[in-house]
Amino acid sequence: MITGGSRGIGAAVARGAVERGYAVGVGYAHDDAAAERLRADLPGIVTVRADVAEPAAVRTLFDTTEATLGPVTAVVNNAGVTGPLGPFRDASADTFRRVLDVNVLGTMLCAQEAVRRWEERGTAGRMVNVSSVAATLGAPGEYVHYAASKAAVEAFTVGLAKEVAPHGVRVNAVAPGTVHTDIHAAAGEPDRPARVVARVPMGRIAEPEEIAAAVLWLLSDEASYVTGAVLRASGGV
Ligand code: NAP
Repeated sequence: MITGGSRGIGAAVARGAVERGYAVGVGYAHDDAAAERLRADLPGIVTVRADVAEPAAVRTLFDTTEATLGPVTAVVNNAGVTGPLGPFRDASADTFRRVLDVNVLGTMLCAQEAVRRWEERGTAGRMVNVSSVAATLGAPGEYVHYAASKAAVEAFTVGLAKEVAPHGVRVNAVAPGTVHTDIHAAAGEPDRPARVVARVPMGRIAEPEEIAAAVLWLLSDEASYVTGAVLRASGGV
């Protein structure tokens, strides 16, 4: 089950997961048309409109996915928002609240729903939380509130991984650098990737599939001894 899986990095994870034989459920927030397009590309997936910041919607996301595909065994907490780009002094309390609600509360609600179900059923579940290099770089002048929310996701990943490791559950994070997706347009600067590419040691911006590959490796048995890790997929940033 992939939150925010209808577009961008989440949709690339969905495509890669289907290729690897997973039955895939995808959550999204508003864009029914994008979810419809993904369903046309990947027949057999389940798409559920569910805002991860709403506890009832998170339960519905799991229930609907499980009703069609069977028990969830792997979760990718990918849904995330930045709010508008700009200096911290200009950002609004509403922006702080929404970014924290989606990125932090949403990740925690989905993670809790998953680990409760896994512990009840004795499932050795696997979870990957999508962070950002902003968590360690701070995103000054752009969205420091977003960077702080991703630092929370990373601390949460480390703590939850230790708490659930005795149950055989693995929890990791991927911290992408800049990726070609619509998130930059939503933040108010569609061409942001072209502006920031000069900071990237590898000299280019990532494609969503390159982040998806890291997520899918962490979910796989090849990562069987990896938990509590934050894997940077950032071109060296
Ligand atoms: P994106 O292209 O903007 O897509 C965001 C996805 O999340 C969409 O499917 C969207 O659904 C969904 N979503 C947004 N708010 C949601 C909510 N409240 N509940 C459920 N779903 C929600 O984003 P992206 O660039 O792929 O980013 C995915 C993740 O990677 C985020 O956590 C982001 O912070 C992180 N990340 C991205 C970059 C980058 O450069 N792109 C870099 C580092 C980290 P709708 O289509 O319905 O709106």
